Amino acid sequence: MTATLHDSLFPAVPDSADAVLDGLDPEQRAVATALHGPVCVLAGAGTGKTRAITHRIAYGVRAGILQPASVLAVTFTARAAGEMRGRLRQLGAGGVQARTFHAAALRQLQYFWPRAVGGEIPRLLERKVQLVAEAGARCRIRLDRNELRDVTGEIEWCKVTQTVPEEYATAAAKTGREVPRDPAEVARIYTTYEQLKRDRGVIDFEDVLLLTVGVLQDRPDVAETVRSQYQHFVVDEYQDVSPLQQRLLELWLGGRDSLCVVGDASQTIYSFTGATPDFLLGFRGRYADATVVKLVRDYRSTPQVVALANGLLGQARGQAAAHRLELVSQREGGPEPSYTEYSDEPAEAEGAARRIRQLIDSGVRPSEIAVLYRINAQSEVYEQALADAGVPYQLRGAERFFERPEVREAGLLLRGAARAAAEPGEPVPVPEQVRAVLSSRGWASEPPAGSGAVRDRWESLAALVRLSEDFAAARPDATLGDFVAELDERANAQHAPTVEGVTLASLHAAKGLEWDAVFLVGLTEGTLPITYAKTDEQVEEERRLLYVGVTRARFHLALSWALSRSPGGRGGRRPSRFLDGLRPGSTARGARGTGAGGGGGAERGQGGRRRRGPVLCRVCGRTLSDAGEIKLMRCEDCPSDLDEALYERLRAWRMDQAKELGQPAYCVFTDKTLLAIAEVRPSDAGELSQIAGVGARKLDKFGADVLALCSGEELGIPVQGAGQLPDEEAEE
Ligand code: ATP
Ligand code: MG
Repeated sequence: MTATLHDSLFPAVPDSADAVLDGLDPEQRAVATALHGPVCVLAGAGTGKTRAITHRIAYGVRAGILQPASVLAVTFTARAAGEMRGRLRQLGAGGVQARTFHAAALRQLQYFWPRAVGGEIPRLLERKVQLVAEAGARCRIRLDRNELRDVTGEIEWCKVTQTVPEEYATAAAKTGREVPRDPAEVARIYTTYEQLKRDRGVIDFEDVLLLTVGVLQDRPDVAETVRSQYQHFVVDEYQDVSPLQQRLLELWLGGRDSLCVVGDASQTIYSFTGATPDFLLGFRGRYADATVVKLVRDYRSTPQVVALANGLLGQARGQAAAHRLELVSQREGGPEPSYTEYSDEPAEAEGAARRIRQLIDSGVRPSEIAVLYRINAQSEVYEQALADAGVPYQLRGAERFFERPEVREAGLLLRGAARAAAEPGEPVPVPEQVRAVLSSRGWASEPPAGSGAVRDRWESLAALVRLSEDFAAARPDATLGDFVAELDERANAQHAPTVEGVTLASLHAAKGLEWDAVFLVGLTEGTLPITYAKTDEQVEEERRLLYVGVTRARFHLALSWALSRSPGGRGGRRPSRFLDGLRPGSTARGARGTGAGGGGGAERGQGGRRRRGPVLCRVCGRTLSDAGEIKLMRCEDCPSDLDEALYERLRAWRMDQAKELGQPAYCVFTDKTLLAIAEVRPSDAGELSQIAGVGARKLDKFGADVLALCSGEELGIPVQGAGQLPDEEAEE
């Protein structure tokens, strides 16, 4: 992410308002200096929209034209809001509110609830799906998992489009929505769901906005107070504003026009929730005197990445596509995006992990790498693979950093130490003091093995240590007390330091962010576009999701897919249709096997990838290239020296483990890995670790069990016959 770079370097705050404008191009400057009246920026990915509005706010504040407390900047995700606060602070404009619509509304609601409604504000419902299921049951409507998800989506859509249950059937038909059940049933579930919420005194995510809108509409005194505080509004990612958010924005404005919006219709990816680019595209129609600025220079990505992004957009259809803007890269050339086909998902994840390891070894920071996928469930196999490859990763965003218990605790300890250190004496460098304090709480120079809570904790503390190092480098004379003050300020501004780990995120969550290296994984038909995208419009939104993914990359971009879910699967999947005609030589099948080694690097694009060293068949000595054969460590048709009994014992053991962990069996070990173990019969950890699929983490977790089984011990598990084993790895 952009801010992370600045973050660690503690750049000097610009020394004047004019200096804030340095580093903007003429169009961006036009945005930054248009401080009065409505402004609309229509521009493609990476053209500096977010940068332009951040500098606009900072310029206004530094020039004394905008009061910091009178500005409300709205961004799309909590993470983006956190980044914007960080950037504003670095430009000398701390104190400006940058929040999501939801967070801004919740704050206002909490503040006005006692006066406008009375009593305590109701609790926020954490998981809507459960209550929807309950509502379904009350209506005697059985919903399967997919229907439950879809009905929940319909209820959310109703709420953000302000559609009441009685209007649902008509509204859904009018907008051509694919209804998951009979509309009358959906309407009944929706009514019951609302009733259940009232009975339990809870509100959901959408209610926060609805209630705020309600209070502002009904209570002129409250609206007046809010309007006298906030006079200037800035909205990022405006193409994804929902009618409900738009209503809220209008109530905040109350007829005034100090509004600046920026967006890119080609990045509309939330229309399934009711968001629409209409408000962005119709801005000029609503504000005839608006300053409209277009930006086309792409400062983020190399020409190679930009060419793919433009290619994708070139195939787009529909309203958003009609407004597409061809991007022009301002950067020097870089590697071609790579396209890799794998035989199965674990192989794909291992391939990505290997490549990530190489990038890190070549000097790319883990926080500058992201793996992006379509649905959150895809993260698991990547978590496994990265942990096996010894690569730190983070799932959660950095925005809540200062609320983590270990960070709070560290803050208290450092404060105590700063007080004690205030006594005169030989000054000890700040980072040294920080390290000393934090090592009593689980920090060490090397990370702990494996993943999980201990590792998370270490990552947080390591981020604080790094922050102290950067801080001391920027301010050599500063004391521990100064550092503690810096932490306080950052906590207030929610300006988190970078947690050094590869980001695992969904494409939706990656919006607005950027990394040096991006891995777009799982690019198959059925995942992207996702199976339930059926109408042309839904498929177009999936294409835009891929566009968003591609344009997150600054330099390295790797696209991949797997032909089966699990090893030994039928291999019947097809790469995403969105890549047709874009990936070199669309003869996808030809690439099968060559990509499975994975490690060769994005630099060379398709073909010719190998593992770090060649893997030879341990029977005939031939160089292996097929993913399955590499795992087996022999040719598929070379004679097998499999110990059948051991293999069955291993499978039975694996089933138990998988049950215990609540994970699919292949997450313990894949079939191929088990086969290889049963053939090699390793006698110690060293031999076991030579087998493909046995990484450091697995060795740590399962090594003792596996070695015991190989040496003939039973581990108290009854040996089952092959016929009795359920086929837990059947292709879906
Ligand atoms: P997205 O559509 O993905 O949200 P964006 O239009 O908001 O993208 P930014 O994130 O503001 O783009 O900028 C993209 C990158 O280009 C950032 O790293 C930013 O610092 C850099 N950048 C933007 N404008 C300039 C400029 N004039 N000079 C140098 N770098 C720039
Ligand atoms: Mg942006």
